[in-house]
Amino acid sequence: MTNNSPQPDQTALNFKQPEGRLFIAGQWRDGPSSFGVSNPANGAEFARVSNSGENEALEALGAAVAAQDGWRSVSPRKRAELMHRLHDLMLEREDDFARIMTMESGKPLTESRAEFKLSCDFLRWFAEQSAHVHGSYSAASNGGFRIMVAKQPIGPCLLITPWNFPLLMIVRKGGAALAAGCTLVVKSAQETPLTCGLFAELVQQAGFPDGVMNLLHTTDSSSISGPLMADKRIKKVSFTGSTRVGSILMELAAKNITDCSMELGGDGPFIVLDDADVDLAVEQAVICKFRNAGQACVAANRIIVDKKVEGEFTEKFLAAVRELKVGDGMTNVDVGPMISARQRDRLGDTIASLTSAGGEVMIGGTPVDGAGYFFNPTVVRFEGPNDVMCSNELFAPIATIFPVKDTLEALTFANTSDFGLASYVFTQNVSRAITFGERLEFGMVGVNRGIMADPAAPFGGTKASGIGREAGHDGIYEFMEDKYIALTVDEDAGVA
Ligand code: NAD
Repeated sequence: MTNNSPQPDQTALNFKQPEGRLFIAGQWRDGPSSFGVSNPANGAEFARVSNSGENEALEALGAAVAAQDGWRSVSPRKRAELMHRLHDLMLEREDDFARIMTMESGKPLTESRAEFKLSCDFLRWFAEQSAHVHGSYSAASNGGFRIMVAKQPIGPCLLITPWNFPLLMIVRKGGAALAAGCTLVVKSAQETPLTCGLFAELVQQAGFPDGVMNLLHTTDSSSISGPLMADKRIKKVSFTGSTRVGSILMELAAKNITDCSMELGGDGPFIVLDDADVDLAVEQAVICKFRNAGQACVAANRIIVDKKVEGEFTEKFLAAVRELKVGDGMTNVDVGPMISARQRDRLGDTIASLTSAGGEVMIGGTPVDGAGYFFNPTVVRFEGPNDVMCSNELFAPIATIFPVKDTLEALTFANTSDFGLASYVFTQNVSRAITFGERLEFGMVGVNRGIMADPAAPFGGTKASGIGREAGHDGIYEFMEDKYIALTVDEDAGVA
């Protein structure tokens, strides 16, 4: 397989670049230095953005703190209207968002558009939620007073997002936090700052008060997260990224007992039972594995197939993988590049560890010659369960297939992981679907589907995959705290 896509149409690249400066207290500001943003499809730098240091980080926090009381006092309906306005402004910029996401992250334009649409849906969901926050009122168990529980915004939040879903990750956190009445300091991923810059431009255009959202970019994340997390004015950190960095942030949070939400790595088992619709399983496995060139936390990491259908599954899966077009996401391709040369180059070691553990490379296994950080879609088959990829996130266009002898072996092997984010099961038997749904030790189980994200669903993981859930009916409450008010009541009140 080669990088066989045509060269991108240069007119498609000819659009106004988003703001690359820092956004602090409603102003666009240069940082003390700048850094380059490169297109992983060709390695070329196409923009420069401001690089913030500790001073800018603390100014951003100061702005978020200053704006907090005002923002929490804005009526929920008014907050919702601002968010709907932001949503509408986003819809007008679909092409710009899609192009910049593809240029920064490498994902095919079709995937950028899908991420854009989903991000808009999430924003609208949170806008709708902001005026629908529930409290409660009840009688004390022993009588004599009343219990009122109000939900209050937790306060200024630090949001740290990854590059692989540069818009969706900001909206899924930021949308909930804004709806809840919290102000934000957002740190973009170094690889994808411009997508975040465009989002911040629209926040400003929509008319959010100054300081409600502040945006930082940096090449040295710890120089920002250290001082911010040491500052007691940060009331919550919401992070999406690797388990390694999540653990560092939780250590920093421990010092001030700062609230945390953590969306971390995954090791998605993709289980195909002997009664599965094999064609459907193949179609969904290709999407689940090769979307974003496999660089997704919810990607199928281990494809676990009952031996009775493994021959048919593998043959059809290989045929589908052979059809995948690899190339510049600005053209009509299925699989884009890895995010960086370093990420592409590590895959040589990944293939070596898979083969030395007994895996057979059935297709691919090599980088694509030429410019850009492409890796050929790869399938590695094992003879049976093997722990080489248990608790080990591939994060690459490499599929591993493990035949199992029965449903018990499938379930046991699937659960052999420190991670617990997404899992998948393919079966036409409702009882099996329910049993796997209940016994898979993962925060999310897709039954006969390889894509699950939806604003109305709680997204998140168990074990080393994180703490908390994003979106769903309770997503807004991740950014709120219960306030209990006890009210003494004279039971007589002159009316007994
Ligand atoms: P990463 O952990 O290296 O980086 C994520 C973010 O953290 C980036 O903004 C990065 O600049 C920042 N960062 C790095 N070191 C930091 C530090 N010391 N202090 C503060 N911030 C720091 O992860 P990545 O390579 O960008 O993303 C891939 C990882 O993210 C994978 O493990 C993937 O599974 C995970 N992910 C999880 C979800 C989810 O919802 N659970 C979604 C997408 C990605």
